[in-house]
Amino acid sequence: MAKRFEDKVILMTGAASGLGQDAAVRVASEGAKLVLVDLNGEALKETEELIKKENSNAEVLTVTADVSDEEAVKNYVNKTVETFGKIDGFFNNAGIEGKQNLTEDYGSDEFQKVVNINLNGVFFGMKHVLKVMKEQGYGSIVNTASVGGIRGVGNQSGYSATKHGVVGLTRNSAVEYGQFGVNINAIAPGAIMTAMVKGSLKQMDPDNWEEAGKEFVSVNPMKRFGKPEEVSALVAFLLSEAGFINGAVINIDGGQSYKY
Ligand code: NAD
Repeated sequence: MAKRFEDKVILMTGAASGLGQDAAVRVASEGAKLVLVDLNGEALKETEELIKKENSNAEVLTVTADVSDEEAVKNYVNKTVETFGKIDGFFNNAGIEGKQNLTEDYGSDEFQKVVNINLNGVFFGMKHVLKVMKEQGYGSIVNTASVGGIRGVGNQSGYSATKHGVVGLTRNSAVEYGQFGVNINAIAPGAIMTAMVKGSLKQMDPDNWEEAGKEFVSVNPMKRFGKPEEVSALVAFLLSEAGFINGAVINIDGGQSYKY
């Protein structure tokens, strides 16, 4: 495989599981030096082990941090620059689904929690990474939105509001920072089989979640869940070869969001 990330420093949040873990392994296999951030420090070590299994010389720094805490975000950005001297790419990806409910029953505390992580966390990350990238005069950011950030999903007030917010942050900063050589895009995945989606199916049907999953994908044009590695391929492209793509929100959902 071509080593598109040789000598590149890539920072990722939500790197202990799912899309973040898979993307970390992918860009490491193409030569990246990595800073991996997650709330779950133990699981982060698993990601590091997966990377080192393939390449024992890979340079990986893990930082246990809560992305909804601005001081912790400043700290992971500072640590990246102190350790590696620059940030070429940032996968701003950590997020949670929140408890599903009709809007009238959606807990206000739950709403705030989802906002704190999915929206504030992405904003704090952009704010502190963009300062570094602007000074450098280059850099690429990929924010993880969702199909829930471009369409209504139902029972997900917090998730849908925050993912629409991630799309807004992406477009706003893209028009600000293009002039500094920085491009910023968002991905909008449909249902990709990760721990989060398993949890979501279990909320829909705790005893029969696998059946619920089959029913869920039966309306997808491709009749299946997406795979983390399919998302990683897009993320790796956006972080390496997509310098003139800026402000885009790219669906990766088997075509489901185009279906009437
Ligand atoms: P996941 O649950 O497998 O991984 C999410 C990771 O984020 C976990 O390791 C978790 O510990 C971490 N995290 C959660 N809260 C955090 C916090 N406050 N600070 C730091 N880390 C935190 O889920 P995933 O499916 O890989 O989701 C990754 C991103 O992709 C999320 O933003 C999610 O909304 C988005 N997404 C996923 C899908 C999907 O189908 N899997 C679809 C659309 C969007």
